[in-house]
Amino acid sequence: MSKFLAGFYQGLSAYVPGEQPRDRKYIKLNTNESPYPPSPKVTAAIAERTADMNLYPDPEYKSFREKAAAYHGVGIENISVGGGSDELLDWIFRAFFQDRGVIFPDVTYGFYKVWAALYGIKYREIPLKDDFTIDAADYTRAEKGGPCVVLADPNAPTGIAAGREAIESIVAADPDRVVVIDEAYADFSTYTSAPLIKKYDNLIVVRTFSKSRSFAGGRAGYCLSSPEIIKDIEFMRFSTNPFNLSRMACAAAEASFDDDDYFRARVADVVRVRDGFSDELRKLGFEVTESSSNFVFARFPGKNGKELAASLRERGILIRRFDSERIKDHLRITVGTAEQMSTLVDALADILKG
Ligand code: PMP
Repeated sequence: MSKFLAGFYQGLSAYVPGEQPRDRKYIKLNTNESPYPPSPKVTAAIAERTADMNLYPDPEYKSFREKAAAYHGVGIENISVGGGSDELLDWIFRAFFQDRGVIFPDVTYGFYKVWAALYGIKYREIPLKDDFTIDAADYTRAEKGGPCVVLADPNAPTGIAAGREAIESIVAADPDRVVVIDEAYADFSTYTSAPLIKKYDNLIVVRTFSKSRSFAGGRAGYCLSSPEIIKDIEFMRFSTNPFNLSRMACAAAEASFDDDDYFRARVADVVRVRDGFSDELRKLGFEVTESSSNFVFARFPGKNGKELAASLRERGILIRRFDSERIKDHLRITVGTAEQMSTLVDALADILKG
């Protein structure tokens, strides 16, 4: 950090994304991307829209919002758009958590802590249970003026879904605090909490095109909430980056909604491969959480996670692991193609033999 950086930021840590290596070709299972390309209709739509690149996009993003609203059976006034869900979450932290602070699990998306620290927001980490599930009761004790809540559901890096009822009980516990459900992986689960925005005006559901819609490189996301909250998020958007989504990202997002068959088929592929791969890992002796996402969270009892990850890397396979004490021996493995996962299972069997 230079001496010029404002004092407030000195000593803060930035989020560290999974690496995008260029030194050699890896089987890349470290950043929860889709192994499949976007729909051919998406790539065709991008090519078509590049002709208008001399013009700014519509700052209201009406056509994108209409498609997202129709997809969820809500109104356009319930939708705001982001360049990936990270952008929306950034605004949400600033807009809604400043006064009351925020709570989230001790094992969850690492960016929550980074935003809280960056904006001087008070936060508390609530330990997950021993099996990495959440105890909804930790989030339903309504205290007057108590903290807001952000939960990834399914959670990352555990892959575990909280359950529809648990989420609703947390949202319903205190109508005066904002509850944010980060649904980056919900398309791989069996439910979404999006319909609850019709019943509760304190809920924000954040969604992304990065995982289930094969569009991590294109950067597109959106959130659903009550019209009042959406107006606040639009205030943040217009106060920072009113043209936050490129014309190409919009074209792609709209085409993805239009090609529902492709989307559903790719999600089904990932879910099938995930469940088969989880079984294979268990057969090898791994402890594996019940994943509702496009990654698997596993540990081999008695084995050092860092060493396992390093051995896989030597064999050209990248997975993600974290240094924090509670999960230092766990591996978070993105679900790739059936062929990639079978290569990984063979590599693990070989490593464990040696
Ligand atoms: N939330 C969670 C839980 C994630 O794992 C990620 C991916 N790193 C994001 C949000 C952000 O994804 P994006 O900005 O690509 O939508």
